[in-house]
Amino acid sequence: MKTLRFPRDPSLQPGLPAEAALGELFMRFPSPVALVDRNGNALFMNREFEKRHGPGAIAADCLRALPSGAGGMPLAMPVVARDGSIVQARIMEVGGGEHFAVLVDGGDDGELLGTLAFLRSRVSELERQATTDHLTGAWNRAHFERVVGNEIDRSNRYRQPVSLILLDVDHFKRINDGFGHDAGDAVLRALTRLAGDGIRSTDMLFRWGGEEFAVLAPSTGYRGAAALAETLRRLVERHGFPAAGSLTISLGVAEHAAGEDAAAWFRRADAALYEAKHGGRNRLCVDRLGCSDLWAADRGRATLGLVWHEAYECGDPTIDGEHRQLFVLANELISASIGSKAGPEAGRKALDRLIEHLVRHFSDEESILERHGYPGLGAHKRAHERLVRRALELKSMAKAGKGGLGALVEFLADDVVAGHLFKMDREFYPILGQATWTRE
Ligand code: GH3
Ligand code: MG
Ligand code: MG
Repeated sequence: MKTLRFPRDPSLQPGLPAEAALGELFMRFPSPVALVDRNGNALFMNREFEKRHGPGAIAADCLRALPSGAGGMPLAMPVVARDGSIVQARIMEVGGGEHFAVLVDGGDDGELLGTLAFLRSRVSELERQATTDHLTGAWNRAHFERVVGNEIDRSNRYRQPVSLILLDVDHFKRINDGFGHDAGDAVLRALTRLAGDGIRSTDMLFRWGGEEFAVLAPSTGYRGAAALAETLRRLVERHGFPAAGSLTISLGVAEHAAGEDAAAWFRRADAALYEAKHGGRNRLCVDRLGCSDLWAADRGRATLGLVWHEAYECGDPTIDGEHRQLFVLANELISASIGSKAGPEAGRKALDRLIEHLVRHFSDEESILERHGYPGLGAHKRAHERLVRRALELKSMAKAGKGGLGALVEFLADDVVAGHLFKMDREFYPILGQATWTRE
């Protein structure tokens, strides 16, 4: 278990938006408070905390199990203080599911809740200010720099393409010159709303600077990004801007290519934008380099499978190990069912191994939950029974030559993983996290 250690020096740690303002808020806070991120890194600790408790330790696994979102209630958690004694702390998510406030000695419950609510609203506000553009409300360039690396990592990891669209207003100077700077500002705000409506909820719109914007489109290859860029171009062309009448935009599209860093990727999108400008404006140019063609060509059994991610861990080594093994066996089953060479016998054996593992895993998990006094155990057991029943049904269907790959994938992906592992199992994660803290 990774154990968190508060730094001896309570000065600011890097990597947090609005660092200075946040640091100020936490440093001046009257009662002992620390701020930690989900990975168990201590970001700030005020003097009160340092004086009385720090440097201490808390189990980082507890953080991962904490509920996120505005509805999350503070969780009681032990913190190991400097002198080795254990003090009860309250910890609650305060910003975007990423940051947590740790409070000790916060007075009675009502007072504590008020304090946490105050911290949460201040942190959210500071984060909003640090990540958005003041004029338009779009994400700002600093935020782009912060998220682009993650998007590249995610793309490589899941072999999902990611694209970048740069867009620049054509002859924007004429709008400023003809209608005034305020009209220019109003156009930028209206353009942001229009583009924001045109993109998907998973896409992100950034104001890059001046009258230039960027769209980051995850899970989108250059073809999809070109279609999105064309939609945006048309939306703008057809829109009547109250402050300035009609206007057009030019766009450059580039999908991320293997091994490329963010700067090189951006340069390709910028070169495409330049080409669009020089080609006559009100158009898009697309750089056709990217991984999507390569990945699409690399079809076959390897592309159909379940991908394990650390975020699925609950912190209990038995359950996590068995969940991981479940993914391995599920993928073997899918492979065996696609591979005609191995024959139907290989598929049946793989299904037997999976069922055997499911039964053992469910029983292990139930014992662990029982030990922790999990209140939802009865319902959880019934869900396990239903899954085993369905697996046995699939087995007899396979024996009769019915069902096939579709039914298997549906069972594994929808019933076992999406419906059970990602939904029902996650309900007991906080209980495990709470109970697995250690002193180091
Ligand atoms: P092109 O088609 O080549 O892009 O021509 P353009 O006139 O749009 O490009 P140029 O880069 O020459 O001019 C951009 C203008 O945008 C100049 C600058 O004064 C104006 N601008 C930049 N930021 C803002 C802003 O926040 N508000 C307003 N109103 N204007 C801005
Ligand atoms: Mg321009
Ligand atoms: Mg420009």
